[in-house]
Amino acid sequence: MATEHEYIDLEELDKNFVSTFDGIFFKLNASTNKELVEDFKFQSKVLADKIRQVKISANKQRIEDVANEMLGKEAALRSLYLLCEMWLSIFSNPHKAWVYYVDAEEWGELAVKFFRNPRLVTLYTNYFKSIELLLFPQMVFFSAGFNRTPGKCTICELPMKECEHIEGRIYFGQVCDEFGWKIIEADHVAFVDHPRDRRCFSHAYKSDGQWIDRVTRAKIERPGKPDEEDGFLVEGTILTAHTPAGVFL
Ligand SMILES: [Zn+2]
Repeated sequence: MATEHEYIDLEELDKNFVSTFDGIFFKLNASTNKELVEDFKFQSKVLADKIRQVKISANKQRIEDVANEMLGKEAALRSLYLLCEMWLSIFSNPHKAWVYYVDAEEWGELAVKFFRNPRLVTLYTNYFKSIELLLFPQMVFFSAGFNRTPGKCTICELPMKECEHIEGRIYFGQVCDEFGWKIIEADHVAFVDHPRDRRCFSHAYKSDGQWIDRVTRAKIERPGKPDEEDGFLVEGTILTAHTPAGVFL
């Protein structure tokens, strides 16, 4: 098929995708050399960006099967890219590493919908589960309650209640979701095991006069923070403004 500037050989692109994906996924683990991870990060981003352009072109030409296939390939590469970011920041910024992990997992969940090999689906899903158990064993999450304005559909940009698209379904390489809503009033924040957004997590807590990093379990300093009185103190993210995987072209 043709994009605006060049002719794209989809078979060649598929081969390139398979070799890049396999070449990175099966070598990406905790003992991987840092320069190699930097290279994996670069390779996955370059190919993901290229595939995204093909996806956009297929969307504009209304070729749904190609657009959807490109979304799947893009999602797989974006999840690898984010896993590289996670490994690279695990010591320098473990909280950021957790967010990279959740982003990678979200793109990964989208990617496995397109995997044709069931063994690879299991392998990929288990890879994420193993990382989480090993690197982030004791996360605590927040869920914020709030009133908000209605949002618009990512596919047709009409108010969500007025359109016929179904949230979570994929149309021409794009995931339907609600966007553009605003918070009117905050209500409450609760500790939960299964939050809607796992980027809302506790960073640290104070115990017996000492702040502890929730992710690393290291003792940390929090100068200027108030003293606990009757309750106990926690620090964390209660709301994020991330863009869900695949909702925008
Ligand atoms: Zn719609």
